[in-house]
Amino acid sequence: MKKIQNFINGQFADPTNGEYLKIYEPATGNLYALLPLSNSKDVEKAVRAAKNAFPIWSHFSIDQRSACLRNLSEIISDNLDMLSAAESKDNGKPLKLAQNVDIPRASKNFGFFADAITQFSSESHHMVGTAINYTLRQPIGVVGCISPWNLPLYLFSWKIAPALAAGNCVVAKPSEVTPMTAYLLSKFIKDAGFPDGVFNIVHGLGPEAGQAIVDHPEVKAISFTGGTQTGAKIAAAAAPKFKKLSLELGGKNPAIIFADCDFDKMLSNVVLSSFANQGQICLCGSRILIEESIYGKFKTAFIEKVKKIKVGDPIDKDTKMGALVSKEHLEKVLSYVEIAKAEGGKILCGGNRIYPEGRCEQGYFMEPTVIEGLSADCRTNQEEIFGPVVSLIPFKNEKEAVELANCTSYGLAASLWTSDVGRAHRMPEVLDFGIVWVNCWLLRDLRTPFGGVKNSGMGREGGWEALRFFTEPKNVCIKVDPLD
Ligand code: NAD
Repeated sequence: MKKIQNFINGQFADPTNGEYLKIYEPATGNLYALLPLSNSKDVEKAVRAAKNAFPIWSHFSIDQRSACLRNLSEIISDNLDMLSAAESKDNGKPLKLAQNVDIPRASKNFGFFADAITQFSSESHHMVGTAINYTLRQPIGVVGCISPWNLPLYLFSWKIAPALAAGNCVVAKPSEVTPMTAYLLSKFIKDAGFPDGVFNIVHGLGPEAGQAIVDHPEVKAISFTGGTQTGAKIAAAAAPKFKKLSLELGGKNPAIIFADCDFDKMLSNVVLSSFANQGQICLCGSRILIEESIYGKFKTAFIEKVKKIKVGDPIDKDTKMGALVSKEHLEKVLSYVEIAKAEGGKILCGGNRIYPEGRCEQGYFMEPTVIEGLSADCRTNQEEIFGPVVSLIPFKNEKEAVELANCTSYGLAASLWTSDVGRAHRMPEVLDFGIVWVNCWLLRDLRTPFGGVKNSGMGREGGWEALRFFTEPKNVCIKVDPLD
C-alpha cells in the first residue's frame, strides 16, 4: 500500500500527528493508499518554508522562473504513462481520458505559464507635461491553492503554475479524495529546479488542512476550485482578513439546442458534454434544452447513442465511462435519480448502479442516465448533481430558451447549438454565464478568461487574468517638471 507524504521545504514529511486517511480505488473499491491527515501544525511549517523562500524566488529572473516551470512541464510529459495510470486509478476515470486530456493538460499548464510570464507586462499612464505613472505588478508572497477531485492534476497545476510564474511561493492542498498525482508531482519539484520552500504540498481534509491554509495570516491570497458551499465558507473566513480570493465553484450548465443546428455534430458533442469523466466536470451540460420541433428526433437519437456508451474498467481501452469517484459520491448521484422520480421525472435510460464482472465488481459504476418531464425549477434541474445524469427540457423559442438557461443560481458555462449567425452572437450577450460555447464544448484557449458568475464563482483564471490575480498592482507616479 502506498503511503503518501507531504512535501514541505523540499523534503517529504509525515503529518505531525502521525494520522492517515484510507484511500480507496473507485474502480475496485479496494483500499490502496494512505493519506496524511495534516493539520494546522503542518500548514504552519509549509507557510514558514514558503515565507523564507519568497525573497529568493521573487528575485529569480523571469527567465529563471520560466525555466523551472518549463522543466516541470517536460518532466510531466516524460512521465505521461505513469501519471495517467495513477490518475485513472485514483479517480476512476478512463485511462485513455487521463492520457489524452488530464496529464497533457497538466503539462501544458506549466508550459503555458512558463511562456506567459515572459510576455506579461503592466500599464503606464502618461499625464502629459505633468507626470508619468507606471504600474508595478509584484508577487503577493505566500499564496494558497486548493483544488478538487474531478480533474486532479489538471486543476491543481492550473492554479499553481500562474502563482509560481508570478513569483509567489505556494502552499497547495489537493483533494483528499484524489491526492496521488499531486504526491507524484512533488517528486519532480526539486529536479525541475525550484528552490526548497517555493512549492509546498500539504495533504489532508478540507476543514482541517484546507481551512488552516485559508486562516493563516501569512497566506495573502487563496485560489480555490471546488463546491459552492465550500467556496462560501472560504469567502467568509478570508473576507475579514482582506485576502485576495479566486473562487471557481459549481455549475448547472445548459446545452441549448436549436432546430437549425448541425444535428450530427451537435449530437456527438452533447453526448460528450453530458457524460465525459462520468459527468464529473464542472462544465458538463446537465440541463439539455431542446427546441420543441426537434425534441422527439433528439430524444430518440440521443438515447440510442447513450445506451451504447461503454461503462466499465477504466483501464480497458474501449471504456468511455469509468467509475464515479467514491462510494459516497455514487450514493449522492443515485439519490438524485430517486429525487427526480419523486418529482415526476421519467427515466428514459439508466438510473442504476452497475456491478461489472471481474476485478471491478465492487467499483462505483453507474449507468448514464437521461430524464425527462421535469419542471425547470425542481431540485433535479436546479441542484448540481455532478454525475452522469442529464435532464431533457423542451423550449418554444429563443426567449424561452434564455429564460430556462438563466433560471438557476449557477452561471458557469453554457453551450449553444445553432447555425443562425445572428443568434450565435445575440444569445451570448444575454446568457448569464462566464463562458458560452457556440457549436462546441470544452474548446479551450488557455489565454481566455475562465470562470463563472452568480454562485459559480468569483474572479477568473487563465492567461493574464491569472497573472493579474497572483500579483499586486502598485502605481508609481513620477512628477515630471517641465523643461526650464
Ligand atoms: P469540495 O468543495 O468538497 O472540495 C474542494 C477542495 O476544498 C478540496 O481540496 C477540499 O479538501 C477543500 N476544502 C473543503 N472544505 C474546506 C474548507 N473549509 N477550507 C478550505 N478547503 C476546504 O469540492 P469537490 O467535491 O472536491 O469538487 C467538486 C466541486 O468542484 C463541484 O461543485 C464542481 O462543480 C466544482 N468544480 C468547479 C470547477 C470550476 O472551474 N468552476 C472545476 C472543477 C470542479
